[in-house]
Amino acid sequence: MQNFSITSPSNLPAAAAAGQNSDTAFIAGGTDMMQLLKNNVITPSKLIDLEKLSLSEIKSENGVLRLGAMATMADVAAHPVVRQNWPAISRALLLSASPQVRNMGTMGGNLLQRTRCLYFRDTGFACNKRAPGSGCPAIPGDSRDLAILGTSPHCIATHPSDLPVALMALDAELELLTPEGTTRRMSLSKFYRLPGTTPHIESNLEAGQIITAVILADQAIGRLSTYLKVRDRTSFAFALVSAAVALDIEDGLIKNARVALGGVGTMPWRVHQVELALCGQKPSDRVFELATLRIGEGAQTTEMNAFKVKLAQRTVVRALQAISA
Ligand SMILES: Cc1cc2nc3c(=O)[nH]c(=O)nc-3n(C[C@H](O)[C@H](O)[C@H](O)COP(=O)(O)OP(=O)(O)OC[C@H]3O[C@@H](n4cnc5c(N)ncnc54)[C@H](O)[C@@H]3O)c2cc1C
Repeated sequence: MQNFSITSPSNLPAAAAAGQNSDTAFIAGGTDMMQLLKNNVITPSKLIDLEKLSLSEIKSENGVLRLGAMATMADVAAHPVVRQNWPAISRALLLSASPQVRNMGTMGGNLLQRTRCLYFRDTGFACNKRAPGSGCPAIPGDSRDLAILGTSPHCIATHPSDLPVALMALDAELELLTPEGTTRRMSLSKFYRLPGTTPHIESNLEAGQIITAVILADQAIGRLSTYLKVRDRTSFAFALVSAAVALDIEDGLIKNARVALGGVGTMPWRVHQVELALCGQKPSDRVFELATLRIGEGAQTTEMNAFKVKLAQRTVVRALQAISA
């Protein structure tokens, strides 16, 4: 591990200003950052600790939920309002990592954890995401866990986090603080970037910008929502495929549907075509099965990960069955 210094600013503008230098990185719970530093995947010379910035409040007001960026995964998962009004979020968090990691890991950190692609995490391999232009050995290599949607000839790394899949389905917004001291909102759907020719640029967060909160607007649809995760082990493993689903059913018909996938995309993946196919229908196994046939549209698979198309279809069907039963 390369030597680094660490500072703990006590106010947001100072933290954002310090974070503008290309050689610096923010650290929240440190559960991903420390692994990346230890393995020399990233080598900043200065870390800016966000712990003293009072960003851990979870607040529900007039139906709007505000999750401070430093709120821990454990605290958000256990919060009574989250459990009641946005169960998909609570479940996505409870199915993430381990109790110890959830006690440290934060909202901001989870949104920005780096891919678990083994070629990215091992500096013995080339990787366009880690060393732009060096190549992508994952494409002809071990691609079983990697993405089938949103890929490019330069990168097929999967986005690893569970939480943003649920947030994507529920139209979350992020509150950001710029180094100039202004606060702005960005829809989560605009936050992540597809790899294209620049897989090392993963989000539209600019240098020095700090995520200060995740915002969920008042919406009935969150209440009938869930998150289902399929993985090789039943705990402490990343998703092979996961699904966040939500339904608004009125007079026996689906008025509004939300479906997002994890484990299959280079970013958390919303599947609008499935949502459209569900709307106006009476919930049934047949309706769910037909709608989810559209999941494979646009998928670029390898021999090793082609199974994810069918697995994703079945995962979404099971999740929809669970909330409509
Ligand atoms: C063994 C293990 C198993 C795991 N399993 C899962 C799993 O199944 N599902 C899952 O989703 N996750 C899993 N994780 C990942 C874990 O959830 C993340 O490491 C954690 O969420 C990261 O949060 P953190 O606060 O520790 O972030 P850090 O490690 O401190 O930071 C991560 C990144 O976020 C940036 N960052 C943090 N906060 C902000 C902010 N407010 N503004 C701007 N940038 C910020 C940092 O600069 C850094 O780039 C696992 C981790 C481990 C170690």
